[in-house]
Amino acid sequence: MTKDKKFLFSEKPLFEEGGPSLQSVLLLGPPGVGKGTQGKLLSHIPGIFHLSSGDMFRELDEDSELGQLFNQYATRGEFVPDKITVKIWKEYLRSKIEMNFYNPETDLLILDGIPRNMTQAELLSPYINVLKILYMVCEDREVMFERIRGRAVKENRRDDADELVVRYRWDVYKRETEPLIDHYPQEMVRIIDADTIPADVLSQILSAIVPIQKTCFSPSPL
Ligand code: ADP
Repeated sequence: MTKDKKFLFSEKPLFEEGGPSLQSVLLLGPPGVGKGTQGKLLSHIPGIFHLSSGDMFRELDEDSELGQLFNQYATRGEFVPDKITVKIWKEYLRSKIEMNFYNPETDLLILDGIPRNMTQAELLSPYINVLKILYMVCEDREVMFERIRGRAVKENRRDDADELVVRYRWDVYKRETEPLIDHYPQEMVRIIDADTIPADVLSQILSAIVPIQKTCFSPSPL
């Protein structure tokens, strides 16, 4: 354990004022741009913990109150209310830490789908140290709608099956999520060309995050 990493071993518990700040990279991009595909690939890499907010919600027990609430919002293509989202996010992270799936001392947190608007960015800001924004871009909207249509069948996602809902999600993304890009210093934003093969997208992502991983987590030679 090096001295500079000790700050994570804060006296204060996680999610309390003055508690540790999670070293994070945000993965941003419209629905269907391929965040899920990249997320799955990234989650196999040691030292990376990929958190997809969509997967987080889908892991909720469908019969639970929160699971039902999520279903209501998701099938309409709407966001789950911000405060509830952040509360679930905290609990989810806590459980992943307890189960040793995520270790904030050694793992870079990749947040995919959260924060999704300015309010969430503000609610999350005491807990995360945002190191980079990976902005996945695909110029052709229809390519993304096509991917979503495929996903609807393959993954049995109800929110993907309705064309109107998919297009509505796109509008919500443009209105609520895209403005987040301007909220962060532009030198932190790395554009990732998502209109190419998955291996190429992955290679662009890795070239952005490997230096961060090395700086934040490599054991320093003492
Ligand atoms: P996509 O990016 O294709 O829209 P996701 O799997 O990321 O799909 O999200 C599915 C649904 O989960 C969203 O439509 C929304 O209802 C809910 N959701 C996911 N992330 C958030 C978030 N950060 N805040 C509020 N709702 C969210």
